[in-house]
Amino acid sequence: MADDGIILGIDLGTTFSAMAYVDRHGKPCVLANAEGHATTASVIHFYDREACVVGDEAVKMVVVDASNVVRFVKRYMGEPDFTLEFFGKAYTPQELSAIILRKLKDDAAEALGGEVLDVVITVPAYFNAAQRAATADAGALAGLNVLSIINEPTAAAISYGVERLGADRNIMVFDLGGGTFDVTVMDIRGTSLRTVASDGNAELGGKDWDDRLLNYVADCFQKQFGLDPRDDPQPYQELYERCLHAKISLSTKPRAVIPVNYRGHRAVVPVTREEFESLTADLLLQCEDTCNLVLEKARMSWGDIDDFILAGGSTRMPMIQGMIRRLSGKEPARGVNPDECVALGASLAGVFRHPA
Ligand code: ADP
Ligand code: MG
Repeated sequence: MADDGIILGIDLGTTFSAMAYVDRHGKPCVLANAEGHATTASVIHFYDREACVVGDEAVKMVVVDASNVVRFVKRYMGEPDFTLEFFGKAYTPQELSAIILRKLKDDAAEALGGEVLDVVITVPAYFNAAQRAATADAGALAGLNVLSIINEPTAAAISYGVERLGADRNIMVFDLGGGTFDVTVMDIRGTSLRTVASDGNAELGGKDWDDRLLNYVADCFQKQFGLDPRDDPQPYQELYERCLHAKISLSTKPRAVIPVNYRGHRAVVPVTREEFESLTADLLLQCEDTCNLVLEKARMSWGDIDDFILAGGSTRMPMIQGMIRRLSGKEPARGVNPDECVALGASLAGVFRHPA
């Protein structure tokens, strides 16, 4: 058995999931999956009626075996009549989410040297009762004991705010993931953490930035050779992955190159961060609009926010940090890992609410 009383905090994400626990010294720690990564792609590949794989291996099959791959299950949580069929077997969204949770559970057991059953799972602040119930069901189907379902921005704020309780502060949690965007304004008053206002865009995320880059590169190739690599699944997948890597490089480097090989033709398309930012300027504006809407609902302005917490992998793009700086005149909070803060906060919430 793992240490008694271990509670796993699980960030069950649309594109990536993560897990964390609080160690014996009270320190929240991220648990790596069996592949050694802090995050696990929320993607399932069914390879026959009995077997499936979750994570990186499944991601590789997204285009080449599209009909046997599931992504973005989270978007369908709580829809009563939604099922997907693989090898003649129908699965509900909660059954599919349970497959992801089971992978996390198994990997946690492996890492900790014993089974962990108690979990706190996070959901977006906008999830309704049916979506929350479906998430809890998914946990039960995975053989987990779901202690509570908490909001992702609350978890992110907990991981940041535990050390800052006692002071009165207004916090904005800006969460730009792979396929969704959520903004939440919270306040700390004494020792309580409260959600003031929240909104989001379930159709905006890193995927949109990827698509822009991919279409730009494919257009360049097409202009040069009159051929479109988007026409064939395999080259499309290859180009998609290269564009995704280039996007990630552009978060730390001023320039990236994207090699394209298609039907015997080769091109190397250079992209500068400036070009990438202008290709996606309207996506950034959509983020800004949502922030303004949430501030309006909270009856606050940019200057009223004391701390900006960036969550979600896409907030690593410098244009996001730049936007926060430009609109608020403040630096985003330091020391917050955007991929990990939700899982870390969930593990802390588990320990506070359910002390051993
Ligand atoms: P979700 O909560 O939606 O499951 P995540 O918070 O894990 O998603 O964010 C995943 C997104 O973050 C993906 O679109 C991925 O490409 C993007 N991402 C991860 N790291 C970086 C980076 N360094 N620069 C830009 N985008 C990144
Ligand atoms: Mg997330």
